[in-house]
Amino acid sequence: MQAKGLSKKKVLAELKRIREQDRRYDDGKILSSMCTKPHQIAEKAYQFFLGSNLGDPGLFPGSAQLEREVINLLATLFHGQNGVGFIVSGGTEANLMALLAARNMSRVSQPEVVLPQSAHFSFTKICNLLNLKPVYASLDSSFRVDISSVEKCFSRYTVAIVGTAGTAELGAVDPIEDLSDFALKRNVWLHVDAAFGGLVIPFLKNAKYKYKFDFTLDAVESITVDPHKMGMAVIPAGGIIFRNSKALDFIKTETPYLTDTHQYTFVGTRTGASAASAWAVFRSLGVDGFKKVVGKCIKTTRLLADGLSDAGFKLVVEPTLNIVAFRSDKGTKHLVEKLWGSRWWVSYVPRYDCIRVVVMPHVRKKNVIAFLEDAIECERLLK
Ligand code: PLP
Repeated sequence: MQAKGLSKKKVLAELKRIREQDRRYDDGKILSSMCTKPHQIAEKAYQFFLGSNLGDPGLFPGSAQLEREVINLLATLFHGQNGVGFIVSGGTEANLMALLAARNMSRVSQPEVVLPQSAHFSFTKICNLLNLKPVYASLDSSFRVDISSVEKCFSRYTVAIVGTAGTAELGAVDPIEDLSDFALKRNVWLHVDAAFGGLVIPFLKNAKYKYKFDFTLDAVESITVDPHKMGMAVIPAGGIIFRNSKALDFIKTETPYLTDTHQYTFVGTRTGASAASAWAVFRSLGVDGFKKVVGKCIKTTRLLADGLSDAGFKLVVEPTLNIVAFRSDKGTKHLVEKLWGSRWWVSYVPRYDCIRVVVMPHVRKKNVIAFLEDAIECERLLK
């Protein structure tokens, strides 16, 4: 740190210059992100609650109320009338809290968790932290977990089974209903990682009949859902919802000098601004608003998938949610490099040797049309 402070003007000018290096959602060229430009009202709400700390909720009862209301809203969306939970730093922390509860409740000495091969990489960190052995179940031809493989992976050490409602790489939705039937028979905790799909699936047309993933399924004990993805809240805003308060005893830590007697999240000091920003978006959009946003993303996804197929690219799988994954016969990795050269920020997934595009609200029809033109031209230039 320099000895003398700089003027506010100078500091802001420096920050502005440095910020130029960051990619911007407004350009419509970030095609790899599950996050998006925060909703305007989310930004305002976040600013209102800048100093608030939910790690010490007695000092910030307004913020604590907002967190409770957001959690109630999400629990109700997921048909969990007795749901409890927290706004946390993201999907990683939410998944951590769920598996911590499952592990502590089970009291198994060498605990294992059954994960789909497509589970998010956060579970690798979590297994490491919690000393859980991950046992991976294979996928079917639609990249959904194969229930017969889950059955084979199950043992007397299994403390939880995980299903994903909207995988990070392909947007696949595991057969959560089958997982629930199996988990009920074995009396084991079922956690649903809906970090991505949790605020997409409920707003799809006819989703009720297509993908069951929530507390209507009896074995589902916990759900991860991230308002900082399709919820358009300001980062960090993840959510963990438990079926009921039974889970809380297994994740609580005494807080000897704060206004509340216990904390239940991994992060101690945590901003109330995240809860406020999620709350503001939910209040402002309502179900109808979310249906519009999601509907638009799905329409744009279809436009992209059809355009790619028409141009001769191969889709890895028909899109389930708003993610498209495709390959090039001329070498997918080379095509990715060309696209990056044209400043299209797609991701490359080595596991499936594919290019992955996430169609979030900042990705508009005109961006997809421009991307298709460039992808066709980049492929043409490949030898
Ligand atoms: N789970 C899924 C399915 C995800 O897609 C992600 C992130 O993309 C996570 C968990 C981790 O979320 P975060 O990066 O917010 O910790």
